[in-house]
Amino acid sequence: MKMRFVLLSVVLSLGVFACGQTVDSPASNRQDLSAFNAQHEPPMLGIHWARGFTPFARVQGARNNPDMTYHGGVIMPSTVSEAIYWGPSWAHSTFVGDKITGLDSWYAGFNNSNYAKTSDEYTGSNGQVGPAVTHNGHRVDLSTASNGSSTSAIVAEVCKEITNPVRDGFYPVYVDVKRGNAGYCAYHTYGSCSGVNVQVAFFFNLDGDAGCDPQDTSGLHSQGLAALANVSGHELSEARTDPDNPGAWYDKRGQENGDKCAWTFHVPLVTFSNSTQWKIQGEWSNHAYNTGAGYPNSSGQKGCLDGH
Ligand SMILES: [Zn+2]
Repeated sequence: MKMRFVLLSVVLSLGVFACGQTVDSPASNRQDLSAFNAQHEPPMLGIHWARGFTPFARVQGARNNPDMTYHGGVIMPSTVSEAIYWGPSWAHSTFVGDKITGLDSWYAGFNNSNYAKTSDEYTGSNGQVGPAVTHNGHRVDLSTASNGSSTSAIVAEVCKEITNPVRDGFYPVYVDVKRGNAGYCAYHTYGSCSGVNVQVAFFFNLDGDAGCDPQDTSGLHSQGLAALANVSGHELSEARTDPDNPGAWYDKRGQENGDKCAWTFHVPLVTFSNSTQWKIQGEWSNHAYNTGAGYPNSSGQKGCLDGH
């Protein structure tokens, strides 16, 4: 989801539903919303809405092509990732559980996976999305974490922890804060650290959060790790295909490749390049939709791929 200003967007979206209107919400257009971004915060992009909280979902008619279109910006030809675990709970082993080791393994296994390759059809002004992810592990910051409502606070945390930011860096921030009434599980955005453009993402603590749970029953991972892994696939895929400003690939409603397949799963477990297995949503492929090769998203459009 392309979001300039989430609080406004949520209000608008709720208004759309409350009034029963069928017009497009202006929140789906990142250009329009920028005018409302009075605080000059980096925009929340690629918001992974919780289950049942889909402000822009609607039935699309046959004449409405659901494919994403290119908006002129860059993509990520390759990715360098480093995770940040923020908040005092990350000092407690019962809270940490298998999350840190599991996500390190998740990022390592994303590299050159068939799952990663589901985003590789997309090109931008700087080349083509590629499946390479160099994962540089993680950092832990035990100071009190913010709740994600300020995107600039998340960018600032990345700049504080990542002393050597790199071009094509993707820095996901996993906090110990639960989402409460927030309608989303995660989002991605961008910023600048020491003059280097970076992609960042924010993830709530999803322990016991039914609205953000893929319901992985494999027994391979704790519930909290399984939930973070699924939303991480959504956000990383979106950052690779639609980072930064002015944006690259999203559809007429502002939905990115993760949004368009959110909360749909094709197989019980997707195997990554390091043989780890995850219950993870697919990602939208224009090519798959156009050729009928994908599995259906929540609107029945067969454009989702998980690379299994
Ligand atoms: Zn999204």
